Amino acid sequence: MGTPRTPKGRARAIATLLAEEYPEAVCELDHRNPFELLAATILSAQCTDARVNMVTPALFARYPDPPSLAGADLPELEEIIRSTGFYQSKAKNLVGMAQALVERFGGEVPTKLEDLVTLAGVGRKTGNVVRSVAFDLPGLPVDTHVLRLSKRLGLTASDDPVKVEAELGALLPRKEWGDFSLRTILHGRRVCDARKPRCTECLLEPLCPSSLVPRKRRTRA
Ligand code: SF4
Repeated sequence: MGTPRTPKGRARAIATLLAEEYPEAVCELDHRNPFELLAATILSAQCTDARVNMVTPALFARYPDPPSLAGADLPELEEIIRSTGFYQSKAKNLVGMAQALVERFGGEVPTKLEDLVTLAGVGRKTGNVVRSVAFDLPGLPVDTHVLRLSKRLGLTASDDPVKVEAELGALLPRKEWGDFSLRTILHGRRVCDARKPRCTECLLEPLCPSSLVPRKRRTRA
């Protein structure tokens, strides 16, 4: 493959390689509907998906829908979600989110990002997860992995997730945003580690300006 010269060409080449490597990339938070995904994503802040998945069966058995969560007893809810960390603020956010769904959105999770970000505990990242995963709508969640890899790959110079979302969004087709994010997160977890990127094993290495592979070896590759 020749090296694409434009940012758009590079972004698409990177997206294609990631799609070949991680065709199976899916959101790893267990959920059965948009409400459960929204709650699970709120819980996933500063917590692993695996840990959230241990907590959500009991959470959704006790509070299966927005009205029941809106009326939750805070101490009881805190106890259920305690192991996800920051459980007091997460419990308040869950109840506030559910109350807003009941009061302002007819008990349904809204699909528009501008509505989603008005909910307690929901920023653009969470809103974009819900849009892309639960509704199959364009949404480009920018988490710590997407932020780090986008910069290393020279797709952005910014550290601001909102700017990175806009810049990546302009480089990639809207229908690919969600999958690009999921695959970039997987690549960040498996290969492009924050501290020790494994550049010699990286399929994106020929396209990466931050590669740690010595230049001579790169030109021979
Ligand atoms: S070449 Fe290295 S820095 Fe670049 S994406 Fe791959 S692992 Fe990350």
